[in-house]
Amino acid sequence: METVHGTIQTPVFMNVGTVAAIKGAVSTDDLHDIGTQVQLSNTYHLHVRTGDKTIKELGGLHKFMVWDRPILTDSGGFQVFSLRGLRKIKEEGVYFQSHIDGHKIFMGPEESMQIQSNLGSTIAMAFDECPSSKADRKYVTDSVNRTTRWLARCKTEMARLNGLEDTINKNQLLFGINQGAIYEDIRIEHAKRIAEMDLDGYAVGGLAVGESHEEMYHILEETVPYLPQDKPTYLMGVGTPANILEGVERGIDFFDCVYPSRNGRHGHVYTDHGKLNLFNQKYEKDMRPIEEGCGCPACRTYSRAYIRHLLKAKEMLGMRLCVLHNLYFYNHMMEEIRDALDAGDFAGYKKRKLEGMEAGE
Ligand SMILES: [Zn+2]
Repeated sequence: METVHGTIQTPVFMNVGTVAAIKGAVSTDDLHDIGTQVQLSNTYHLHVRTGDKTIKELGGLHKFMVWDRPILTDSGGFQVFSLRGLRKIKEEGVYFQSHIDGHKIFMGPEESMQIQSNLGSTIAMAFDECPSSKADRKYVTDSVNRTTRWLARCKTEMARLNGLEDTINKNQLLFGINQGAIYEDIRIEHAKRIAEMDLDGYAVGGLAVGESHEEMYHILEETVPYLPQDKPTYLMGVGTPANILEGVERGIDFFDCVYPSRNGRHGHVYTDHGKLNLFNQKYEKDMRPIEEGCGCPACRTYSRAYIRHLLKAKEMLGMRLCVLHNLYFYNHMMEEIRDALDAGDFAGYKKRKLEGMEAGE
């Protein structure tokens, strides 16, 4: 996929930097080192701190965090809708209170587009509501209809913003989001309606929020065929290596998830032979790298024994090395997936990868 900030090789795993940084003391230099293609930043968090207007004054998010490759910003909707009890949904948008100081904020489609335009991200996500997978049919129908009306407003507002003189990225792209909880007919109808709106890409949202993996795979099988085949498809917030392999098989091109960085911060590291918990006693004198042959900054230099020591001593370096290894593992897996797809051997690769990870050490 071509963007003003460079080409994205798909399928791709985006590395999640919530507040314009990957949690775990990871710098943008590190991201180049571990093969990151796209960084994801959270609109809501940057809006409440340091503020998108300030970031625009400073030249936009790319300049602010010193990152020249693509950035995808979410719409802020997911965070806003997680503030249960603190929010009120209306046709115009959502009224809610800041999680930092409690002050009242309004966010609707236009506000979300304005914030993302101020940040100057490569790809902006449409403002949507993500209804719970447990919500009833009537609620989901009304919510999805409103999300469609919001999407039309997002598209209009983005076109206006991209035409303004002082806009940082006048080529900002817009992805629409398919919703519908686990009602496949609502999902399909919504996919058809947003496909007609000729957007730059399409996401499947509202999955991996409590439904089973089988329900998620089923929804993808039913819905993805109704999204444009010549545009990228993004499965939001997913997932484990196995979820990603199943997603690719069902036509997904973009993924993002906090698992690799969150697990890394807790000393849980991925390998082709399963996940290791480096706090485990058995690694105390283990001088092997986390994974033999891994090209990440941790494995190139340090042993399991040393990283375990750092984690036990609560040294930040231990956490950082685990996060770098895990993100490298995900980025490298996507590279292997792309190679396998090019070679026409995705099914074989997927089987070998899953068998290896399930076998354990
Ligand atoms: Zn490694």
